[in-house]
Amino acid sequence: MASVQLQDLIATLPAGAVVTDPDVLAGYRHDWAKDPGAGTPLAVVRATATADVAATLRWAHAHGVPVVPRGAGSGLSGGATAVTGGIVLCTERMRAISVDPVTRTAVVQPGLLNAEVKRAVAEHGLWYPPDPSSFEICSIGGNAATNAGGLCCVKYGVTSDYVLGMEVVLADGTPVRLGGPRLKDSAGLSLTKLFVGSEGTLGVITELTLRLLPAQPPLSTVVASFADLDSATEAILAITAALRPAMLEFMDSVAVNAVEDELRMGLDRSAAALLVARSDAPGAFAAHEAELMVAACEKAGAIEVFSTADPEEGEAFTAARRFAIPAVERLGPLLLEDVGVPLPRLADLVSGIAGIAERNAVTVSVIAHAGDGNTHPLIVHDPADAEQTARAHRAFGEIMDLAIALGGTITGEHGVGRLKKAWLPDQVGPDVMALTRRIKDALDPTGILNPGAIL
Ligand SMILES: Cc1cc2nc3c(=O)[nH]c(=O)nc-3n(C[C@H](O)[C@H](O)[C@H](O)COP(=O)(O)OP(=O)(O)OC[C@H]3O[C@@H](n4cnc5c(N)ncnc54)[C@H](O)[C@@H]3O)c2cc1C
Repeated sequence: MASVQLQDLIATLPAGAVVTDPDVLAGYRHDWAKDPGAGTPLAVVRATATADVAATLRWAHAHGVPVVPRGAGSGLSGGATAVTGGIVLCTERMRAISVDPVTRTAVVQPGLLNAEVKRAVAEHGLWYPPDPSSFEICSIGGNAATNAGGLCCVKYGVTSDYVLGMEVVLADGTPVRLGGPRLKDSAGLSLTKLFVGSEGTLGVITELTLRLLPAQPPLSTVVASFADLDSATEAILAITAALRPAMLEFMDSVAVNAVEDELRMGLDRSAAALLVARSDAPGAFAAHEAELMVAACEKAGAIEVFSTADPEEGEAFTAARRFAIPAVERLGPLLLEDVGVPLPRLADLVSGIAGIAERNAVTVSVIAHAGDGNTHPLIVHDPADAEQTARAHRAFGEIMDLAIALGGTITGEHGVGRLKKAWLPDQVGPDVMALTRRIKDALDPTGILNPGAIL
């Protein structure tokens, strides 16, 4: 039956848009989280225009076929995991962009990579700040759908702070426009924000209007190593009390050694923790802020502190931090966490994670966007070892329980997806879950959009 219906979709869409080759489908079953529960889709639709997305959703709505929206598949929470018998609706071929230097806005289609958006606006002397470590492999549509964060978000905010408007196709195939290139707009409910971070469960984003900033000023960089985790977390709080850094990143010793194994850049392998902090304050203020950050690290007892205004040196340390997840992944498959806490609880979170790792006898490497309290505990495990895998999954849950107990969140930027949804009710409570369900049911009454994600 499904294949007869699929012929209708194939006939409606441009030639080649619907892919059913099993070898190709296999590449669209997982996102980066490699959810073992991934299904096998009926087909992948590679949309080239809003009309393709609308036609696919009209067809899916009519036939009750699940649709999993997908950008570049770099998600870390199983949000783009394929559903058996469903469609994976991919935006990778929707790649147009136009930049308006007068209003400092850009209109972009969802399939462009974050890095491509940054490069296109830079040609006009402008800057799109949100910078997930994955910026070279994740799409701008996926960024909006997950409300992605990144390294400079401690100072510049997350994706939702830059989305002024969008075109989104609703579950029944109706395209709607929300917001637009107006820097102020308070007409009606704040529906644009509702779709940012909705992880493909409420609609498919087919265009975004983004707010841009002038090019970022040159950065000064401070790198500090610490003999213990407490000194590092003390330095983080001292820095954020003194100023708003443009970046404040943390790597523990497992991450430092994994990165050093790959990049051989002379990181201190004996350090328990490494901080990489940056200032982009204008003119001489950057050097002043760097001095404040050096002083904060020294006062907290850093073993070694290095400061540079050289852009290439600074970028090398930033690239090392961005490389931490792939580097630790070379130690073994990862269960990836994204827990965050209010900054004063960061030390409790980091020491609590160390206790959880010890009790469950698993390696947990912690890297963090430390300046906004958002950590990424990376649980290394061997899926072939069932007993170890069970311990890793227990640690995965305990870390989220700990974050909730500390007044934090189960996800600071990756989204709930499929892998963290069991913990969402514990964080937000029954009333918010019921409200979330009512919104989902209102926008997607037949439940075809990304079933199994978030709820
Ligand atoms: C090494 C590494 C480092 C990372 N670092 C960061 C980081 O620093 N900060 C951060 O925030 N994330 C980070 N991520 C996670 C990931 O890159 C982000 O979540 C990113 O926003 C996902 O974009 P994507 O295009 O790959 O989306 P996908 O993985 O394809 O999809 C993600 C979710 O968005 C939905 N979706 C995708 N496109 C659309 C659309 N057009 N309309 C509606 N829904 C859609 C999907 O259904 C899914 O639920 C990292 C990932 C990796 C692998």
